[in-house]
Amino acid sequence: MNKTITRILIIELFLFLALTQRVFSLDYSPEEQEWLSHVVSLRFSEVDWEPLSYVADYPEYKGVIADYLQILTETTGIEMEFIQSRTWEEVLEKFRNKEIDLIPALSLKDMIGTEVILTDPYISFPLVIASRPDIDFISNTHELEGKRVAVGKGYTSYNFLKNNYPDIELFTTDSVIEGLRLLEKGSIDAFVGHMAVVMDAIKNSRLNLHIAGKTEYVFEHRIGLPPEHAQTVAIFNRVLAGITPEEHNRIYNSWIKMNTDSADYSLVWKILTASFIIIILIFVWNRKISAEKMHIQSLLRDLETLKNQLELKNDELEKFAITDQLTGLNNRFKLDNALENELSRYARFQHPFGIILMDIDHFKDVNDSYGHATGDKILVCIASLLQFNIRKTDILGRWGGEEFLIICPEIDIEGMEKLAEKLRQVIESYDFPEAHSVTMSFGVSSYRKGDELTHLFKRSDDALYQAKNNGRNRVVLG
Ligand code: GH3
Ligand code: MG
Ligand code: MG
Repeated sequence: MNKTITRILIIELFLFLALTQRVFSLDYSPEEQEWLSHVVSLRFSEVDWEPLSYVADYPEYKGVIADYLQILTETTGIEMEFIQSRTWEEVLEKFRNKEIDLIPALSLKDMIGTEVILTDPYISFPLVIASRPDIDFISNTHELEGKRVAVGKGYTSYNFLKNNYPDIELFTTDSVIEGLRLLEKGSIDAFVGHMAVVMDAIKNSRLNLHIAGKTEYVFEHRIGLPPEHAQTVAIFNRVLAGITPEEHNRIYNSWIKMNTDSADYSLVWKILTASFIIIILIFVWNRKISAEKMHIQSLLRDLETLKNQLELKNDELEKFAITDQLTGLNNRFKLDNALENELSRYARFQHPFGIILMDIDHFKDVNDSYGHATGDKILVCIASLLQFNIRKTDILGRWGGEEFLIICPEIDIEGMEKLAEKLRQVIESYDFPEAHSVTMSFGVSSYRKGDELTHLFKRSDDALYQAKNNGRNRVVLG
């Protein structure tokens, strides 16, 4: 996942660099460096000539020409200072009066009225023929002969048609838009002008006109400077020659294609970039959240497992605490608790209960004769026999050594006597490992009102003692 994002970001970075890369460095000779160190800034002027030149937001200057001037600034370090002019004549006059140093978009045929040196062309557009939609296609400028054609007053198009096509009936307008409006109204048959400017005007003014054809004249834009700037022109030519086709396309697409499609692609681009970044952020965020969610879920699972293990351990511990390890029966601790319970049950409900205390007869001899391990086995056997033959409600445990205790709830002394007798017979008749015959003595006592547990035990103990004294292997009531 991280690798994928890194790759996307690297591609994005390359795209970004490719799209924004336009500053290239030139290796300047010492003479050029010396020259450039003296040319700090150049003043220029232009009229509103969209999309080539936007002047409405003075002092900001933008459009196709502005982008090329920007490249010159970035490459040479020469700042370009925009000076406002109302008309083209005013621009030329300022140049003649040296109020500006540079005219950024001149054609070879422009009459400046003073000496000027031009750079090589940096961008070119044909002069095109605009018509109403009923005229499909004009393949040749000659087709305009005998027609009423409008051009901007003093524009290149005016000079071109006037000099080369005397049979065209020429009308002049103050601006491109004025000429196009006359054309839409039907006052003239065609308008000839700069392709980018005419297309931009038709589109932006939503005129019902189209480009029916182009003339053979190509408007090549060059930068004009006074003769003393020959060195600057030479440097500019090197810069302009170094502009890549991608960069030319970028400028063309950002001002001309954008306008002709009447869609703000820079905005679309911004929105796409922003949404791409947002998508990446959401993606990364979601991955982070889901990773954290998964992490938390796995922690919860671990916690649940730990909890279960802990509960199991607690159960084991609890069981361990109340179980006799050799026989698996309840131990003395559990028996004491059970007795307390029975005592309180009796106190509340007067439920009868009693105990049977048992002791293996001559067990010392068994150990001595067959070994301690056999003695253990016999203890385990007796535990099972007892467990198997008591009631579900009876609580059996190992009281200690070879003594066992049964707590018998809900039973009177006669019932306990029967139970003890049954157990005695079961033990007596069982064939134990190695020792074969083992017997037990039983002391039975029933709880009596007002008894302490010690009283109850005393009676059982005494009864058991009596059973032993009377010959063992017998049940005695206490
Ligand atoms: P009595 O009939 O009078 O009860 O005789 P006894 O030999 O059973 O009595 P005593 O109390 O003298 O001996 C009890 C014997 O029980 C002693 C001891 O070695 C044995 N014993 C106690 N606990 C265990 C045990 O866990 N395993 C084994 N193998 N023997 C045990
Ligand atoms: Mg004993
Ligand atoms: Mg014994």
